[in-house]
Amino acid sequence: MIKFLDLKKINKSFEPKLSKSIKRVIDSGWFLFGKENEFFEKEFSEYIGTKYCIGVASGLDALKLILRGYIELNYLSNGDEVIVPANTFFASVLAISENNLKPIFIEPDPKTFNIDPKLIESKITERTKAIMVVHLYGKNSINQEILDLIKKFNLILIEDNAQSTGCLYNKVRTGSIGHASGHSFYPGKNLGAIGDGGAVTTNDIKLAQVVKSLGNYGSFKKYENRYLGLNSRLDELQAAILRVKLKRLDIDNDKRAEIAKFYIKNISNNKIILPNYSSDHVWHLFVIRTYDRDALKKYLESFNIQTIVHYPIPPHKQSAYKEYNKLSFPITEKLSNDVLSLPMDPTLTKSDLNKVVSVINKY
Ligand SMILES: *Cc1c(COP(=O)(O)O)cnc(C)c1O
Repeated sequence: MIKFLDLKKINKSFEPKLSKSIKRVIDSGWFLFGKENEFFEKEFSEYIGTKYCIGVASGLDALKLILRGYIELNYLSNGDEVIVPANTFFASVLAISENNLKPIFIEPDPKTFNIDPKLIESKITERTKAIMVVHLYGKNSINQEILDLIKKFNLILIEDNAQSTGCLYNKVRTGSIGHASGHSFYPGKNLGAIGDGGAVTTNDIKLAQVVKSLGNYGSFKKYENRYLGLNSRLDELQAAILRVKLKRLDIDNDKRAEIAKFYIKNISNNKIILPNYSSDHVWHLFVIRTYDRDALKKYLESFNIQTIVHYPIPPHKQSAYKEYNKLSFPITEKLSNDVLSLPMDPTLTKSDLNKVVSVINKY
């Protein structure tokens, strides 16, 4: 079986370091707000290239806390509009709606799967206060057009960097370009924990302070609460694991890029549209498009090749968002019917890759 992502094998490749760091945390008797989180925040902010990093409990919380932080700082208020790509993962949109802000969906450019910058300006209103870009599948989504819009309309730029840890745009990391960025360390992400984890990065000290406080019940000082905050922390165990994995992230991302190059060079089947290769991409997912996606998925399964669909139902069509179900985003809806993610895992072997390619080419 060629797995879509073999977390057992990936974690094994970090041993004995992972087990040693787990033991170190257990032996320390200290599990929250300790040295591991402190070091991780420092190491991750240095890696991303921002002044501040706050470890939180998940990627969703990172995005939620950024928006909540801007609300507490009075940059955002109830009903303000936040522009977001229509084809993103549900969590990007949930972070917006949970804060009583209004998601304004924009279609992606099917060549990059990322928000189409040409479609943004006509959707900007008096209530538009922020753009949340999503570097979907690991592909950078920042470009000059978006930076110009941010300036022209004085908007807040938030990066959902959940799928693109380590990605470079013009020699700087995604996650350091916007006013604030949310990161996810969900086990399957490029930098994955052994449970949930996330982080906020920013250069804005005020936002950093508010986010840190909001994630700790809204307190700045123990047992004194300034905000109605929540409990959202990166625990010591996850921080210790992430410190080990961060050291090898660039090497692992290079391997992902090699795999993407290999697929692009060798897959040749006129029923399949391949993604374009670009260097501002960390290939969290390798997403192809095909007319009868479910048939291809079944065919690959019959050869023991596992694939996943990211994502079969776009946020505006989810039953949780009844109020948006009537909206129509034809590009997004078409993509959700056509996309299929091939195995993408830095531990895939040459023979695995050869098999995937030869099976697909015979489809
Ligand atoms: C994974 C993901 C999130 C949420 O991260 P969690 O850690 O699972 O909460 C948000 N946005 C995108 C684009 C993601 O892929």
